[in-house]
This record gives sequence, structure tokens and C-alpha cells, in this order.
Amino acid sequence: MPGKIRFAPSPTGYLHEGHLLSALYVWAAAKKWNLKIHLRIEDHDQSRARPAYIEGIREDLAWLGFHYDSESIQSARGEVYKAALQKLEEQSLVYPCFCSRKQLQEENPRSETGEIVYQGKCFRRETGDTNTPHNLRFIVPDKTIDWHDLRLGDFHENPKQQCGDFPIRDRDNQWTYQFAVCVDDIDENITHIVRGEDIRNSTARQIALMEALGRTERPIYLHHPLIVDANNKKLSKRELAHSLRQDKEAGITPEMLFGRVCYKAHLTMSDSPIALMDAISMVMNHI
Ligand SMILES: [Zn+2]
Repeated sequence: MPGKIRFAPSPTGYLHEGHLLSALYVWAAAKKWNLKIHLRIEDHDQSRARPAYIEGIREDLAWLGFHYDSESIQSARGEVYKAALQKLEEQSLVYPCFCSRKQLQEENPRSETGEIVYQGKCFRRETGDTNTPHNLRFIVPDKTIDWHDLRLGDFHENPKQQCGDFPIRDRDNQWTYQFAVCVDDIDENITHIVRGEDIRNSTARQIALMEALGRTERPIYLHHPLIVDANNKKLSKRELAHSLRQDKEAGITPEMLFGRVCYKAHLTMSDSPIALMDAISMVMNHI
């Protein structure tokens, strides 16, 4: 059976240059490894998703020439998430957390990346009124997870020290990104995960969660570089708010956009003026 890779944008805005860079990597990887491509609309956060952006993703991908084999949308998959939650509950791997944002910040240390490391206060709590707002946390195993990134090499990370037990459903009863993505990657038989470096830090905890959900074979991981500005800084909100369809309306072609993203991304790849496509094929040829 051929493997499968996913492209998973959130419909909280129109596609921008960051998405385009990610899409180039995903479609390049699919070509290299002969993978099926799955489009996943990540609208798990219903308070931020908009129907117009969902349609926008499909239209923009078609315009850019990125074709895919299958599609799913998280908001239609409530039953699948409920079943996955039940699987965790049966193993006693979930508990309600009543901590406020303020408490979380004041009562827990931070990891070296600045992330709050939840110390398990509500795990030790005997009872709680489940009518008051609370999130549900997954109990992460206290062990080092060894995993490999095709571009960045080996990692040895303990999610207990990175973040502690983490939420799978938030106070507003929305499934979290971490939970939805793990359930989907299992359920949709995703074999290759190619995504931005900014999510690399989530990998160990996602592996732990996927294992608790019964997945035995791990996906193959590749985290790609991000577009940065001329000062080597992450793109600002304003720059990311500039959408590809604004460019389209201004008469810019997909080819010109590819060129522009190539130019911007090469700043992260090397000091020499190589284009992104060269960089991508270089990355792909080394793995
Ligand atoms: Zn708590």
C-alpha cells in the first residue's frame, strides 16, 4: 500500500507564504516517495474557523496547481474524537484540570523554550465539580522518547519535562490541536509528516499520545525551515496576513509566487543565493 502525507492548514485566514512553502515541501516529498496526498482542514478550533477560509483553501490550492487525493475536515469528525477520548479514559489516562490561566502561569515552571510545564496539580486532586469549566489533560508517560527527523537528526525528549500532562479538550469543550492531529494521523493512516520547524517541539508528546491510542508504527518525520525576513526573524503577523489571493488579485501568477517564496526561504537555508526548489530537492536527495 502506498504511504500517505498530509497538508493540514487551519481555516483561520487565507493561505499565505508560509503555507505555500509548506505545500512545496509536502508535494515534493509526495513526489519523491510516491505518496498519496491528503488535505486536512484543521478547524478543530470552531471559535476561529470560518467557512469562507475553508473554501478559500480549496480554491487557492487549485489555482496554485496543488492536487490532492483525499480530503477531511475536523469539524465533521466529532464521533471519532469522542471514541479516541473513551479509549484514553478506559486506560485512566485522562483527568479534568480546573486551573485558571493565571494559576497555570503562576504555579508551574517553564521549560527552556518558555513553555509552561504543568506539574499535575489537578491529577492529585481527589474530586472536582465537573460542572465548572475545566479542560481534560492526557497523562504523559515520564520517559524519554527517542525519535528521528530526516533533516534535523535524532531527538531524545521527555514530554513530562517539556510540557507535563497536556490538554486534549479545552475549557470550551473544543478538541485541542495536539489531540485532533494525533487522532487524525492514526485514523487517516498518515505515514509521512512533513511540516514546519515551529511544530517540531510537539513531536515527542504526539508520539506518546499516538502510542496511548494504540498506534504501533510511527510516522516518518521531516520538519522544514520557515520563511524569515531579511533580519532572520520570523514573519510578523502583518506579513503573514498578506494572503496569496491578494497577490492573485493583483495579477501575480503562481510561478511568480513560487519564485518569491524561494527567494525568501533561501535566507534560512544557506548564505549562497540558492533558490528554494534547489534547496528542497537538495534536502530530498539527502534522505
Ligand atoms: Zn489543573
